[in-house]
Amino acid sequence: MLAPTYQTFKDIVSASIDPKRILTNPLQTLAYGTDASFYRLIPKIVILVHNETEVIEIIKQAKLLDIALTFRAAGTSLSGQAITDSVLVVATHGWKNFELLDNNQRVKLEPGIIGAKANNYLAPHGLKIGPDPASIGACMIGGIVANNASGMCCGTAQNSYQTIADIRIVLHDGTILDTADAQSVAAFKKDQSALIQEIENLRDQIKSNETLYHQIQNKFKIKNTTGYSINALVDYQDPIDIIKHLMVGSEGTLAFISNVTFKTVIDEKYKSCSLIFFHTIQDACKATILLKSSPVAAVELLDRESIRSVENDYDAPDYFKTLPESACALLVECRDNDLNVLKEKQDAIRLQIQSIPTYTDYEFTSDPKQYYFNWKARKGLLPTVGGLRKNGTTVIIEDVAFPLPQLADACLELKDLFKKYEYHDAVLFGHALEGNLHFVFSQDFSNQTEVDRYEKLMSELSVLVVDRFNGSLKAEHGTGRNMAPFVEKEWGSTAYEIMKRIKNIFDPNNKINPDVIINPDPKAHLKNLKPLPECNDIVDKCMECGFCEPHCVSEGLTLSPRQRIVIAREISRLESTNEDPQRLADIRKDVTYQLDETCATDGLCALACPVHIDTGKFVKTWRASQLDTGNKKVAAYIGSHMAGTTAFMRTGLKIVSFFHSIFGTTIMTALSNLSHFITFGKVPKWIPEMPKGAHKINTNQKHL
Ligand SMILES: Cc1cc2nc3c(=O)[nH]c(=O)nc-3n(C[C@H](O)[C@H](O)[C@H](O)COP(=O)(O)OP(=O)(O)OC[C@H]3O[C@@H](n4cnc5c(N)ncnc54)[C@H](O)[C@@H]3O)c2cc1C
Ligand code: SF4
Repeated sequence: MLAPTYQTFKDIVSASIDPKRILTNPLQTLAYGTDASFYRLIPKIVILVHNETEVIEIIKQAKLLDIALTFRAAGTSLSGQAITDSVLVVATHGWKNFELLDNNQRVKLEPGIIGAKANNYLAPHGLKIGPDPASIGACMIGGIVANNASGMCCGTAQNSYQTIADIRIVLHDGTILDTADAQSVAAFKKDQSALIQEIENLRDQIKSNETLYHQIQNKFKIKNTTGYSINALVDYQDPIDIIKHLMVGSEGTLAFISNVTFKTVIDEKYKSCSLIFFHTIQDACKATILLKSSPVAAVELLDRESIRSVENDYDAPDYFKTLPESACALLVECRDNDLNVLKEKQDAIRLQIQSIPTYTDYEFTSDPKQYYFNWKARKGLLPTVGGLRKNGTTVIIEDVAFPLPQLADACLELKDLFKKYEYHDAVLFGHALEGNLHFVFSQDFSNQTEVDRYEKLMSELSVLVVDRFNGSLKAEHGTGRNMAPFVEKEWGSTAYEIMKRIKNIFDPNNKINPDVIINPDPKAHLKNLKPLPECNDIVDKCMECGFCEPHCVSEGLTLSPRQRIVIAREISRLESTNEDPQRLADIRKDVTYQLDETCATDGLCALACPVHIDTGKFVKTWRASQLDTGNKKVAAYIGSHMAGTTAFMRTGLKIVSFFHSIFGTTIMTALSNLSHFITFGKVPKWIPEMPKGAHKINTNQKHL
């Protein structure tokens, strides 16, 4: 039962939005409310919006009723920014329009377009979008922009902040600003003069404070997604430009993004890479500093544990196993549209780092097999740790950045920190060129001791990153709930006050994704932790990353593979805890159709899954477990008497077809419906498309 305010809200918006897209039942709110982070909140209402008019209506009605809203794209966020216990507004289906502009120099994209799809539109022109998160095959434009997501090659030069040309947004009161439309800008400046004035005041305040001004400039030299993109107030003078750039990385806390126009970037035709081994992390980091001024497209660091985790791969060279404990690898990539220039780039890179000894000789390769292996070693690190973790634990990816000169020391101190808190499976890797390191480890949240261990790690991590190295606590993945308690620590009180004012300017009632980025609770990162109970061997390693969703034929109709697993886990949890029998019964009520009957069980999801989970296989075991002994006996009998069964079916179909020819379609349909009804559905319905019984195939016939 919805609380009265939510019921009123639902009733009102149902008048203009198809009620089938307003979800309130326990199964769907849980399934749609889950994202890739290790936090869980279950929305009261999920609305699958199809256009901007619906969004405006929702925003206006929610404002009148003081209801909080959270926007959602693909739900691959890792820091707890795409979840809510209020209303979740999902803008995916229906938000797929795109337009190539200015001879392909710009591309306008709606928020429900998957990043890789946007690149598919641009590929025939040798172009792509700048942001390149590793999740690009699943995450969507809305989330990419709102998180300022980035990856291996885009660095700080080609992320959403740098490549955004225009944006269309809906503010907390339903006002629209389309920065590409001169009329919209003029109307906005006139109608929202107070907002514009406040932005200008903030800009001027920062520009008159030299220390703050330089602090902001410095902190954005490396990747930084902690807090708001206040570099907008330093980099731009015009308030509309400032607003446009403030929206990047705002994690859905300032406005809804209806579309974004990116400046496109060149996708070079020829690519080559080399996995270069150094004797120590220090050497690898020294090489990275030198590589910064050479023509590299990416420099990825893999520590010794990272290499160990891939050494048993079929294609891994034998010497991976004999590398010294101190070894460290850099995966260096260069690209160009001209093969000769590519070769020159490789030579320049070699020359640049020749003073630093390497463990073995190295070559650049474009050979598909070797090239693929090198990148597989790097990209496979998260799944490797995810796949090896103990069932019931969560795989955590932290995402910090350090000024390049301090990268080596920071790596060593981070490793000491993992040892101190006994995170023995932790691997360290990342976009070295940007000083951006990810560390991945498994974490149990099922008991307080483990939560305390995580708390201690995080508080020491914040001291290490901020006080010791002046780095950023979130480089790519966004602040979310995970780093919200540490934003003030990283930025200091003056900058934090500015961030709070930004939130207040755009969302005075704190109803747009509250508790994300700005959160007064110092323990917010330890609350609402997601349970990951053991459920079934086939799916226990699921990280709930969402990579399988675009490959599922029933996604959008009923559930995606991730959502099926989420529901199965919740059923397991409720069965074992007996915590809420009514909720269990409510979920069970819808599960047959949502989880089982609408799964194609084609296994396509396994192709995209980093840990190779075939949810179809799981659904088949689920199906089998739901059959009673009688059903199983019948199935076994049919299986061992196929010849008789098919003969029986052939004859049956012929008889049905005979009666159809006598009674005609109308009477036959009526008779069939009647027998279906009086047998309580035991006799299946007849439809005119039903085939006649075929002739028996003569299997003795010789093929010519
Ligand atoms: C295995 C894995 C690897 C990853 N690798 C990377 C990586 O390399 N680099 C990286 O940066 N990130 C990475 N991520 C994190 C995540 O995939 C990205 O940040 C991604 O861009 C999120 O996009 P999404 O479509 O899933 O957004 P969601 O998770 O749905 O939402 C993200 C944020 O955007 C807001 N939002 C969504 N749509 C709108 C809208 N229309 N208007 C306003 N706000 C909106 C939401 O409220 C939320 O705060 C990874 C995640 C996983 C699971
Ligand atoms: S099944 Fe695989 S791809 Fe899908 S959410 Fe789970 S881990 Fe991710």
